[in-house]
Amino acid sequence: MKATVNVSIVVPLYNEEGNAEELYRELNSVLAGLHLSYEIVFINDGSTDRTGELLKEISSGDPHVVVINFRRNFGQTAAMSAGFDYSCGEVIVTMDGDLQNDPADIPKLLDKISEGNDVVAGWRFQRRDPFLSRRLPSMIANRIISWITGVKLHDYGCTLKAFRKDVAENIRLYGEMHRFIPAIASAVGISIAEVRVNHRARRHGTSKYGISRTFRVILDLITVKFLLSYSNRPIHVFGLIGLVSLGMGALISFILILQ
Ligand code: UDP
Ligand code: MG
Repeated sequence: MKATVNVSIVVPLYNEEGNAEELYRELNSVLAGLHLSYEIVFINDGSTDRTGELLKEISSGDPHVVVINFRRNFGQTAAMSAGFDYSCGEVIVTMDGDLQNDPADIPKLLDKISEGNDVVAGWRFQRRDPFLSRRLPSMIANRIISWITGVKLHDYGCTLKAFRKDVAENIRLYGEMHRFIPAIASAVGISIAEVRVNHRARRHGTSKYGISRTFRVILDLITVKFLLSYSNRPIHVFGLIGLVSLGMGALISFILILQ
């Protein structure tokens, strides 16, 4: 059994060779100033550039750092899920590995957790991403997610979030679901807070996503809605489909008999 630490930082990285070292430096300077025990869990999601080598070098020089290497690219949600499984922190903080999230915001998130919240979500109130391909679809998706899940957050897509370990432990992730953690978590009655966080433009490397992600997010939202509303009464969905089919079948038979 691993000893626990106060905070685990979980960061998925896929081809982030231009960002890995600077990210580590920034994380290190923030975390060293906190006087808490901590670990940094980097998940190398099958990078084909020098990310893996750089992370290995970083971890060999700092016992706080652990690297999980995926054999191929499994996606950000799978990487975060592996990070949750590995982490031993009382609080888990997730963030992107491309320097768009700012490690300097971590203390703010931890403060909100200390105030008694179970989940704290970052809100990129001045988001530095292209408007048409990113901010606009995300504005629409945020509205829809808010409406369907009933959890009112401004920004579901921000990876910078903090969770109490027991909350993180009880949530299985797949697809694009990491963004629905607050919604899933609120269904089991936990408290969520939101804090404004800094957001920076990507300076090195490229974004791994295009507009198609918006569609995947919406599809996953259907699964989440199902999990939230019908997981303990699936007959209300499938039974309804069955009843409608039965009704239509009976109607067609009736029409055919009459003819
Ligand atoms: N990422 C990952 N696996 C993937 C795609 C992305 O681990 O298959 C990581 C990526 O390296 C970054 C974070 O997830 O640290 C967010 O990705 P990106 O910056 O491309 O997304 P955007 O900011 O454009 O939404
Ligand atoms: Mg990014």
